[in-house]
Amino acid sequence: MQNLVLYRKYRPKNFSQVINQEHIKTTLANAVSNNRIGHAYLFVGPRGVGKTTLARIFARAINCPNRKNSEPCNTCEICKSFLESTSLDLLEIDAASHTGVDNIRELIDHLQFAPSKATFKVIIVDEVHMLSKGAFNALLKTLEEPPQHAVFILATTEVHKVPATIISRTQRFDFKKVSIADLSKLLRFISQDTNLKITDGALLEIAAASDGSFRDGLSLLDQVMNYASGEVTEELTEQVLGLTGTRTVSSFLDLIGANQTQAAVDFIGQLLYSGRDLYQFQKDFLEYLRKLLLTKVGVSADFGFNVEFQDKIKEQAQQLSIDRITKIIENFQKAENEIKWTSIQSLPLELAAIAATQMQTDLVPIIARSEATKQPQSVEKITAPVGNGNNPLDSIIQHWPQILEKIKDYNHSLISSLKLAQPVGVENKELILLFPYKFHKDAIEARKNRIIVDQVIEEVTGVKVLVKPMLSKDWKGEVKNEKDSPLQAALKIMGGEVE
Ligand SMILES: [Zn+2]
Repeated sequence: MQNLVLYRKYRPKNFSQVINQEHIKTTLANAVSNNRIGHAYLFVGPRGVGKTTLARIFARAINCPNRKNSEPCNTCEICKSFLESTSLDLLEIDAASHTGVDNIRELIDHLQFAPSKATFKVIIVDEVHMLSKGAFNALLKTLEEPPQHAVFILATTEVHKVPATIISRTQRFDFKKVSIADLSKLLRFISQDTNLKITDGALLEIAAASDGSFRDGLSLLDQVMNYASGEVTEELTEQVLGLTGTRTVSSFLDLIGANQTQAAVDFIGQLLYSGRDLYQFQKDFLEYLRKLLLTKVGVSADFGFNVEFQDKIKEQAQQLSIDRITKIIENFQKAENEIKWTSIQSLPLELAAIAATQMQTDLVPIIARSEATKQPQSVEKITAPVGNGNNPLDSIIQHWPQILEKIKDYNHSLISSLKLAQPVGVENKELILLFPYKFHKDAIEARKNRIIVDQVIEEVTGVKVLVKPMLSKDWKGEVKNEKDSPLQAALKIMGGEVE
């Protein structure tokens, strides 16, 4: 997804253009102007925050003969050859693709020769944690006795994978993520500079989606520019980037807060239908809930919202209790773990939405009933079954299509599993549902899904049962209504058994 046109064009070329990492750029600039150059630096921090950018500025600054204070001129022969990566005195390697000891040996051999034109030979090793053990050992030997003219700049996103022996030989700098405010300031400048019309809301969306990374921010802005014909709005940004966007998560919260189960589940369906990344939506919604909670308890922080959403979130915070917000967070946090593993991506979100919209009042009787194994008295109050006679199983089998239809209203994705299910018996108020595949059985077995199925069966047939999903091959009893499950029948004919 990386589109690096803007990133290359607007990459800072001297210290003063770097709008973040103040402490680091000051220290490095002072080292340059005081001529106190170390032999090895370690740049630690997340991706896209300017580690290699600062490494390159530093490399030019210590070599430029026309340096002004600490800034490289960027026009002399040396600066140009460094900028164009044609100098033999600047070596950049990506340790991710050059992990071996041979690559490092080659570097070290090269270091034996004095610089061709510059004062220092600068070696930038990106993602240094990827080096092999042998390569680290070779590097360590050089760092213990570096040639006078050598300057190493090692960059890493995962410093815990860099041996302590290496770290102790370096001067370490820890880079921070870029703040949303700084990033949107930069994005605004670039938009103006490129004559792009873009709303503040859209800029904030992009900044917030970049997760503190310049590179991601500029790459996202690039993508949006490629789509825009007129002014770039927040909506367009959301569409183009497939972001969830503040507007989306805020509307979703409105539905949850108003206990609109069906609308909330539909909402998720629409996100899925329009190709949104549900995992991202989940993350964004949680982030929004966090901000809501902070607002509720009176923490005033810069959430990167425009005025509209600053007001909106305050309003929402007033409407919901702390307890309620915390419970919603719990529901959706649980979904976050599950969404990565489930093959029905919308299911965990739908479950969370159902739980979160029914926790106030409506869910109470359902929860009570799910504990009904311990309280069989509730089962006594069965209203007259709609089905023929008193056999609850007959009634359920008879109404199975209506039951499925109704479940669809609650949760679309449950249907694909339930379609394969076969109700075969009621034992001790438990309805045995047979599934040919373990995957579908497991999907229905999740407690929240069982509750939905229980409830719908009762609504349609008046029969109170607790569903008990089971694999077909584990069922020893008879199968009463084979024609309800064509798959099962087909399997039987073929003599197959599936798990
Ligand atoms: Zn220069």
